[in-house]
Amino acid sequence: MIKVTNLSHYYNKDLALKDINLEIKKAQFVSIIGESGSGKSTLLSVLSTLLKPSSGEVVYEDTNYKNIKNIDNFRRENIGFIFQFHYLINYLSVKENINLANEKASKEEIFELLRLLGIENLIDKYPNEISGGQRQRVAIARAMINNPKVIFADEPTGNLDSKNSLNVFELFSTLAKKGTTIIVATHDKNLALKTDITYEVKDGKLI
Ligand code: ADP
Ligand code: ADP
Repeated sequence: MIKVTNLSHYYNKDLALKDINLEIKKAQFVSIIGESGSGKSTLLSVLSTLLKPSSGEVVYEDTNYKNIKNIDNFRRENIGFIFQFHYLINYLSVKENINLANEKASKEEIFELLRLLGIENLIDKYPNEISGGQRQRVAIARAMINNPKVIFADEPTGNLDSKNSLNVFELFSTLAKKGTTIIVATHDKNLALKTDITYEVKDGKLI
């Protein structure tokens, strides 16, 4: 589904990724592990179209990232993003936060999605009325509302306790079994054991 060839990236002159080659299959649950500063975020950013690499190719299905004409449309149609900090808007309800990603989604659709995540009772709550684990589930719902083919998550459990972290990874596993490709960067090797395949990055290289 995603093929990366001879990918390198420099920030100014500092090497962040060196000659990465990998192939991700549809519906695979993939983890990218490595120490802080190893290049995980950079790799995820390139894979998810957020960052143009200094050199190399990324091909998604039949589309080379170099040939994408309308990046906003491409992202909306294909990709969901989840970050360490959930970036929910505090003055919007859970439902309204999800509508930010898809203004046409009906309350019924959002309710169904929240039900899948076990938080349908929170639909009219505000972010500061719910717990950290619940907020991250809302962020996952927001990433899922457009039925993306692939979800990218950068340290999605960085702010969660071990129980909630495990829950998030089990949720990802369920989504992958239903056909969504999940690519998650984490520094937590134990969580990575829950994924189908793990790539380790060290000093910008895949080892
Ligand atoms: P990780 O996600 O594994 O912590 P990153 O991909 O964030 O690693 O960082 C890889 C390397 O690139 C590090 O040396 C980091 O300092 C550097 N780096 C990351 N982002 C930037 C940036 N925006 N500008 C300059 N250097 C950066
Ligand atoms: P989690 O394990 O998901 O982080 P917490 O221990 O933070 O859960 O929260 C436990 C319960 O307390 C949750 O059901 C949540 O609804 C409630 N709660 C947590 N934080 C707040 C808050 N800031 N305001 C109101 N209720 C909260």
